[in-house]
Amino acid sequence: MTLIPQDLAGAVLTIDLMALKDNWRRLANEAGPARCGAAVKGNAYGLGIAPVARALWEAGCRDFFVARPMEGEELRHLLPEAAIFVLDGLFAGQAEFYAKFNLTPALISVEEAREWAGFGRVYGRKLPCAIHVDTGINRLGLAMAEFQSLLDEPFTMEGLNVTLLMSHLACADAPSHPLNARQREAFAEARQRLPSVPASLANSSGIFLGDGFTHDLVRPGIALYGGNPTPAAANPMTAVAHLEGAVMQVRQVKTGETVGYGATWEAKRASRIAVLGAGYKDGVPRHLSSRQDNGPAQVFLGGRRCPIVGRISMDMMAIDVTDLPPQAVARGTRAEILGRHVTIDEAALWAGTISYELLTRLGSRYARLYSEHESDASA
Ligand SMILES: *Cc1c(COP(=O)(O)O)cnc(C)c1O
Repeated sequence: MTLIPQDLAGAVLTIDLMALKDNWRRLANEAGPARCGAAVKGNAYGLGIAPVARALWEAGCRDFFVARPMEGEELRHLLPEAAIFVLDGLFAGQAEFYAKFNLTPALISVEEAREWAGFGRVYGRKLPCAIHVDTGINRLGLAMAEFQSLLDEPFTMEGLNVTLLMSHLACADAPSHPLNARQREAFAEARQRLPSVPASLANSSGIFLGDGFTHDLVRPGIALYGGNPTPAAANPMTAVAHLEGAVMQVRQVKTGETVGYGATWEAKRASRIAVLGAGYKDGVPRHLSSRQDNGPAQVFLGGRRCPIVGRISMDMMAIDVTDLPPQAVARGTRAEILGRHVTIDEAALWAGTISYELLTRLGSRYARLYSEHESDASA
């Protein structure tokens, strides 16, 4: 990726690595005595695998979860000693690739288990793997009956070095959803069939469902990056991604004039409008656009919230700064689009999406800064 200097970028994305480490420690503490791993798939939820993985390792994390084998390869070069689990399982015919980079596939079928065991026999060594059972999300993993038929194949089982038994929750962010207890019970049953193997069920929200869910290893993702794992309560995590757009121009708009494509927003009073250098190309969702009236979407500037007005366009967005003192907004002034004041959960809600999608879609046109000290990223 080309490095874009701050002064030549329309917007600056600062990743607060100190907050990331604090979040990991906070989750490790909450999950203890279970070990705390980290989901770093999707380029660490869009925040940059290299700095994120190094920071998590420094904080004490040793177990990492990626989605794709090639994400595992990249991570292996960064962290030679880490346990790296590939959540998408074993890609057909690719066992050698996993072995080469010491990647642990989370096996999702009897077929994958046979392939991994068979490869280990040729390779001359039982290679580590996780077994992923599906306890009710009906996405990836062995259904309970398939899990039993795998256990009934001694030749396959003898060829495997199973280092983790895992499953994934469908509704962990809704603590009272009945599926949580059903999945916990199904997972308990699976564990009884492989009692000596460490177990892992909880994602970020699962950690906050309590003791019955944390087992031996937890796999938080979004909470590490500042998303709220307890949506019904205050966010216990600290913001990690700070996105600031720089003001390119401030203009006066008369009552009755409109702003932006489609003339979707009309000034109800003489207004001052600031145009920021961040648009949908930069991952600012177009669904943050406002219509006739001010929508709910806001940015934070000069100590207060300012509404986004008109449509988000490819390279820019407009905000209403009429209520700010004139000297508070000038060419180059930065407004917080995401960060401590405008949280990723809040912005995602305005845009009709979730924090995960918001983070993973952040574009590549920012000046990206990685701060090691909390004060560097304070807005
Ligand atoms: C992405 C993922 C996680 C992390 O989930 P968060 O909700 O981001 O904490 C954990 N386990 C599996 C299987 C995943 O796919």
